[in-house]
Amino acid sequence: MASKAQNWTYIGLVAVSFSVAMVAGWRWSPLARRFDHYWYDLLTVDSPPLRVEPQSVVVAIDEATFEARGGVAEIRPILAEALDKIAAAKPQVVAIDVILHDASRDAARDARLEASMRATPNLVLAADLAGSKWEEPLDRFKTLAAAVGHVEREPDADDGVSRDLPLEEIANGERKWALALEAFRLARRQPIVESPEDLEIGGVRIPAPRKDGIRPLLIRYPPEGIPKVSVLEIAEHPEKIRGKVVFLGETAVSAARDRLVNPLGLNVPGVEVNADLFETLAGGQFLVYADDIEILAACAGLALAAGLMIRFLPGWWSLAVIPVLGFVLYFPRLEYRHGIVFPLFAPAAVAFLTSITAATYQYLFVRRELRRSESERSRYQQAIHWAAHEMRTPLTAIQGSSEIMSRYNLPEAKRHQLSEMINSESKRLSRIIQTFLDVERLADGQMDLKRELVDAGALVTSCVARVTPLAERKQITLILDNAVEGSLLGDRELMEYAFYNLLTNAVKYSPGGTEVHVFSKLGQSSSELRLAVRDQGIGMDAKEVKQIFRKFYRTKRAEASGEVGTGIGLSIVEQIVTQHGGRIDVTSVPGKGSCFTMVLKASRAASAQDEATASLS
Ligand code: ADP
Repeated sequence: MASKAQNWTYIGLVAVSFSVAMVAGWRWSPLARRFDHYWYDLLTVDSPPLRVEPQSVVVAIDEATFEARGGVAEIRPILAEALDKIAAAKPQVVAIDVILHDASRDAARDARLEASMRATPNLVLAADLAGSKWEEPLDRFKTLAAAVGHVEREPDADDGVSRDLPLEEIANGERKWALALEAFRLARRQPIVESPEDLEIGGVRIPAPRKDGIRPLLIRYPPEGIPKVSVLEIAEHPEKIRGKVVFLGETAVSAARDRLVNPLGLNVPGVEVNADLFETLAGGQFLVYADDIEILAACAGLALAAGLMIRFLPGWWSLAVIPVLGFVLYFPRLEYRHGIVFPLFAPAAVAFLTSITAATYQYLFVRRELRRSESERSRYQQAIHWAAHEMRTPLTAIQGSSEIMSRYNLPEAKRHQLSEMINSESKRLSRIIQTFLDVERLADGQMDLKRELVDAGALVTSCVARVTPLAERKQITLILDNAVEGSLLGDRELMEYAFYNLLTNAVKYSPGGTEVHVFSKLGQSSSELRLAVRDQGIGMDAKEVKQIFRKFYRTKRAEASGEVGTGIGLSIVEQIVTQHGGRIDVTSVPGKGSCFTMVLKASRAASAQDEATASLS
């Protein structure tokens, strides 16, 4: 089970990766912008606008026209000729994408053009920005125009692709609508109704909110382009012009003032981009950018979904996060079809970063849990080994005694001795089982140590008494060097187990005829009691001393001595002593003997009663 702290760490990590991905993936990052532009262009190719009959036509002043009419210098006579022919074909509106700001040196040319303009109804002329000022048509032309629209195009600053056009531009305090918008207004014969959010012309709502003083509108380029007629061919194709909105301008590569690249990757002359904008307005299939709040919410939703899935779906099911990543790709396409331009970079960055962070955390977390449960299992196994080993001795004694009792006719005194032995050994058995369970629960952190006052003297005496038969068998003398004073605070059973273990080890690892000394020392402030067991046995070198508290460790010397052991007793002793807030000191010399000292918290009072009295006085 994950702890509360782990849950918070997880939530924190997912939140941090979400924030990092958002900051790195928002449109202020050039990489994100480039990426999303490219993505937009792919969507544009993928989902072109519905095909409708074009309502506009480009009358092209192309290479052939310049060639036939004497080049760029002849632009005004060319325009005059074109206007005359166009007017004859009866168009709805004529927009000229040529800036007619300067007077010709030859006044007759301007007069001729003026005359042609006068004969052209619904004429829209072009203005553009020269620095911060409008470059307007000459007054003699302007007065003949139904409108003057700007032909400012602002290709993307990052990659030069022309994705949108400003419907509105303001310079020198004077606002101008785009040439195509003016043409559209004239074609519909309706005024432009504006609000900060959109424009409306004859019931068509154009979603172009004002941003930084302009109203950019994404252009929906028809893949098949806009129909074109060369100036030289107008007379042969009047039907291409009749009733249409005409955009007249230069398309010749050598002369075109501006050629633009559109998202379809096509190189188009500026005049055609105006017609594309007009078709976008006329077609009514507008594209708008997704709201920032919407993007943020979608990204947060993704982070949440990835975080929850990886956290709560078991095992391989958490791979269900992959379709979520797939959705990141699918969603913008869906939105695009509904006219909303949704970015890819930020959601993709969020989805990937949060999933990777969450999955890595989960992996490390699961691995740690696995390791823990493995070490727990092996610890449990060791404890079982220990218990089985410890139980063997009393069981053998019980078994032997009971067999002797049943097989032989023994004198009363002997029977009594044997039944006493059976009784005490079975008690020992039950103590071993109890210790085993206690140590298990202690290691599990399930058990609060008992905190009772234990008379140290009584504890030592009882352990010494239990070991004496063992010592006698090996002709080892057990000597209590001084009277043990003071009380220990803790669990009697466990501390007894620990001290008993030191004593049996001392006897086990000493040859016959030696002595085992037990002595104690109460610290000056009586807060510490040192209980020591010193033998004259096989001893250990410094390297071995360092290892003996490890489970299952046995020195070569001990193995050679012929004593059987499990190598687990001291590890439990150490666990008990440290759980009691104490420690064990060991000094040993190979072949000379060892001294094990338990240093425990103590009190001078000998019983709980005394303790209470002591604390009162
Ligand atoms: P066991 O005695 O069952 O092997 P312990 O954990 O009690 O397990 O002891 C670990 C090892 O430490 C022993 O196998 C022995 O090599 C060494 N050891 C413990 N006590 C003594 C001692 N008094 N003298 C020499 N070696 C000892």
